[in-house]
Amino acid sequence: MMTFSEGDAPGGLLEPGEPPAVERVPGTSGQWLIVCDHASPCVPVRLSHLGLSESELSTHIGHDIGAAAVARRLAKRLSATLILSRYSRLVIDCNRYPSDPKAIPEVSDGIRVPGNCRPSNEEYGRRVDALFRPYHRAIASELDELMRTGGIPVFISVHSCTPSLDGQWRPWEIGFSWSADQRTCAPLISDLAKAGIVVGDNEPYSLDLGVDFTTPEHALRRGLPHIQVEFRQDLVRSQIGAEQWADVLADKILGRAGTPEWQTVQHPTGWQREVLERAPAEFRLDASHA
Ligand SMILES: [Zn+2]
Repeated sequence: MMTFSEGDAPGGLLEPGEPPAVERVPGTSGQWLIVCDHASPCVPVRLSHLGLSESELSTHIGHDIGAAAVARRLAKRLSATLILSRYSRLVIDCNRYPSDPKAIPEVSDGIRVPGNCRPSNEEYGRRVDALFRPYHRAIASELDELMRTGGIPVFISVHSCTPSLDGQWRPWEIGFSWSADQRTCAPLISDLAKAGIVVGDNEPYSLDLGVDFTTPEHALRRGLPHIQVEFRQDLVRSQIGAEQWADVLADKILGRAGTPEWQTVQHPTGWQREVLERAPAEFRLDASHA
């Protein structure tokens, strides 16, 4: 397994004047923190589009189409602070452990990514230091601050998914990904289903401990209530669609705000704790490692 430290990168990745790795949209409520891992299709200038065309980068392989717009609207509705990654998941996937070869994929949904062909250890380190670490440090310090005075924010991770994969249509309009902790997802799934929404219960994805990075490392490790949600991209591709679907979820979240189970710390137990304990420690960014 490759390991990295802060000093591994011999040179920077971002040119002066390029946007920083992280965007923070401040909110006034400490009840929530919203994050968006796959918000942007941007590639640093030095990586020359990773050898892909603009149109390839703008598809679902480059980013979660509509997710940033959904997250912005949701943040506004909840008065929550929002943290977004500003660079493409193809440069480094902020929702994967960097030691996972899929963190810098050579192929994504059948499309070869020339700029990711056999990256050197130095190149891995450069991308981790320039993009991955600043994004996760920003999330960790936000949570540290919210929890410093006893707050217990609900951690909300916003994604979107392609409507069909490998020829299979995905019927779910909104999907929730969870592991063993259902205290937030179960009531939302029930409320949305009652409203006639086609809801995915661990569809199209479950929360995959040891593979997914963001929700397990930031929320589960701290015992925070959490919501990892996928919106189907054909529904949120337009600004209007993104705002409408963000409102659908915001209404249900606000309807459940104040639920006692959403205001307690519940640390993972059993196999969940074991999987987290086995995860690579060098990427931990909780209070003790920030
Ligand atoms: Zn995503």
